[in-house]
Amino acid sequence: MRASDTGLSKEQLIELCRKYMNEQFDRYDFIADSGSGMLLKDEAGNEYLDFLGGIAVNATGHCSERVVNAIKEQAETLIHASNYCYTVPQIMLAKLICENIGMEKIQFQNSGAEANEAAFKLVRKYGVDKYGFKDSAGLYTGPEGGIVPEPKRYKIISAMDSFHGRTLATLTATAQPGSAIQKGYEPFVPGFKYAEFNNLQSFRDAATEDVIAIIIEPVQGEGGVYPADKEFLRGLRDLCDKRDMLLIFDEVQTGWGRTGSLMAYQTYGVKPDIVTMAKALGGGMPIAAMATSERIMNTFGPGAHGTTFGGNPVCSAAAYAEITEMIDLKLPERAKEVGDHFRNRLRMLPGVKEVRGIGQISGVEFDRPIANEIKHKAGERFLLMTAVRPNVIRLVPPLTASREECDKAADIIESVLEELI
Ligand code: PLP
Repeated sequence: MRASDTGLSKEQLIELCRKYMNEQFDRYDFIADSGSGMLLKDEAGNEYLDFLGGIAVNATGHCSERVVNAIKEQAETLIHASNYCYTVPQIMLAKLICENIGMEKIQFQNSGAEANEAAFKLVRKYGVDKYGFKDSAGLYTGPEGGIVPEPKRYKIISAMDSFHGRTLATLTATAQPGSAIQKGYEPFVPGFKYAEFNNLQSFRDAATEDVIAIIIEPVQGEGGVYPADKEFLRGLRDLCDKRDMLLIFDEVQTGWGRTGSLMAYQTYGVKPDIVTMAKALGGGMPIAAMATSERIMNTFGPGAHGTTFGGNPVCSAAAYAEITEMIDLKLPERAKEVGDHFRNRLRMLPGVKEVRGIGQISGVEFDRPIANEIKHKAGERFLLMTAVRPNVIRLVPPLTASREECDKAADIIESVLEELI
């Protein structure tokens, strides 16, 4: 459906949006109409160079032929059957993912937050099955006033300035005290602790006897694009091994090619026990997953966790096409090579304090809080991006981006900065 099909103007459609929808984000002032490769077209036919990438989703670009054909074919065959039936796209996708990222078992979900929720449930149950509950001295009062036993080990450590989603448990893990993400949702889900990102000692200190898992983003995306240090991730792996804790990598943003390998843990050479993924997995279709070893997944017995839509045939077919396209075109390697070039060019911009990133996730920190202005002014010059902090812009283009397209994006940012600085 396009704006022209409705007989309404852009302004009228935006008014309807504001009337009927809860506004989540600071939207651009145009209607996204169609997409092709690196370009997003608006209702008036303007073409935008897309370094927002649907928030790190459109890895093979907009409407890649393989993904479009897979969706069309699957939609004409079977759209939905539920997880009471075996469906071929889901089975083939599970095999493709596990074989390519060195995991054994997968559970499909619909969104990144849900994949993290699944991981939290899995590690809690793992802790209860293995270590049981505290004796009566450890009992605490449940929500209805009843007595609920407290497990010996159920706590999860997450990093300050992380982002893990917006459900109650994932917003609790999202350690951004006082932010709009957390504020007003108190009391939070019990059993979460925070430690400082890239500070191993802080995680060691937080790893008390009641902790069962650590969740970490290999690159903190929403938090301002901070890549983890290799030694930090190695140290977390070692800490988890020594204390029998499970290491969860939240690869919702870093997963599927963005950092130069299919998964960022392959880039870092540090394997987690559990990995969560979403965003780029589905080529734009909503699908997510949690993958782990057979031993750990066996914690979930029948009925322990489930979803109506997770791994739906159309989403799975799209994901299968997206991943095979990514592998065939060697997009992770391209992301690494072009991303390195891009950051070198970004470092030459005026007013830059630091440029961070790996592969095709780049953050530019400025010496003043101009990120939002840059975003909107660049939008007027047909370049899309996100402002993740008052002084940090994030650039997550499709992995198909060329050096020339990255240079063009940097030129546009430079022209905006000439006005602002
Ligand atoms: N985890 C990370 C690292 C993310 O970047 C995001 C979304 O930005 C999420 C989880 C939540 O994913 P979703 O919005 O699909 O629930």
